[in-house]
Amino acid sequence: MKFRIGPNGVHLFDRLSGLNVLLEELRPKETAWSMSPRQISIALTNVCDLHCRYCYAPKHKASLHADQVLGWLKELDAEGCLGIGFGGGEPTLHPDFVDICKRVAGETQLAVTFTTHGHRLTPQLVERLKGSIHFARISVDGVGHTYEEQRGKQFASLLRGIELIATLSPFGINVVVNEQTVAELDAMGELAQRVGASELLLLPQQETAAVASMGGVVGRALQDWASNYRGKVRLAVSEAGASGLPTCDPLPDERGLQAYAHIDASGMLRTNSYSSVGVKIGGAGVLSALKLIRETPSGSNERRNHEDLERIRV
Ligand code: SF4
Repeated sequence: MKFRIGPNGVHLFDRLSGLNVLLEELRPKETAWSMSPRQISIALTNVCDLHCRYCYAPKHKASLHADQVLGWLKELDAEGCLGIGFGGGEPTLHPDFVDICKRVAGETQLAVTFTTHGHRLTPQLVERLKGSIHFARISVDGVGHTYEEQRGKQFASLLRGIELIATLSPFGINVVVNEQTVAELDAMGELAQRVGASELLLLPQQETAAVASMGGVVGRALQDWASNYRGKVRLAVSEAGASGLPTCDPLPDERGLQAYAHIDASGMLRTNSYSSVGVKIGGAGVLSALKLIRETPSGSNERRNHEDLERIRV
């Protein structure tokens, strides 16, 4: 088990089972706290073959080099980071995606996860990834026609992707919640249970150049749905959209950059993928960039996280 020290105690984590244990009785002093965020997400590439209107990934071409990524992750691993989430763009479009996952799983103690739209998964790709992925996330915004409208891809192709991901590792389903998908949350919950997903992650739609953020009417419908949810699949919500939902947070004092940071495909460290506050990771490494961003007044406090998740109490 890996351990991490923070303001709420000593946190033990097993990446194979996903078990978390918090020893609250132990409160080491601040100088002993882990320097790394608990979780980090990395956009391996901005490239994607879909064109979702609510996509927040930058549209200029950029990709990270495998050796760069490994170097940063080894630094963070040694300083108490527990997990890496690869995204993009579409991470499977990075030419070294499999190699990066294998190396991170083999050379660090980090839990390796990735988020995919699912349409590029093949039996061969899944076979090559086996043993290097601890959790996977697949984006499913609505069912049937709604999904096809949202993502511009056939729902039948997505279902094939879900079948494949289920053979790779434990997995979760991500859903962007907006006017169209909110009416299908029951169907999403049933789908998640039927296909063996272990989590349904709700991502209230955030503003982009093409769409507005989730409005009040949709927000209230989401709150009602979550309050009445009796499904078997665990619910989670992005921190950015958690307001008004009955969440539980076992690490209430581990906030902002202690909890989470994002590295974009241009090698900028950010408080989250939406943030305008960023520091280029230079030759001094990622911990040095982290120190710089902590010293930036808005950097240390920004909490509008898309990727830092809250569990919903049901
Ligand atoms: S699949 Fe993801 S990365 Fe690609 S366009 Fe859609 S939201 Fe953006």
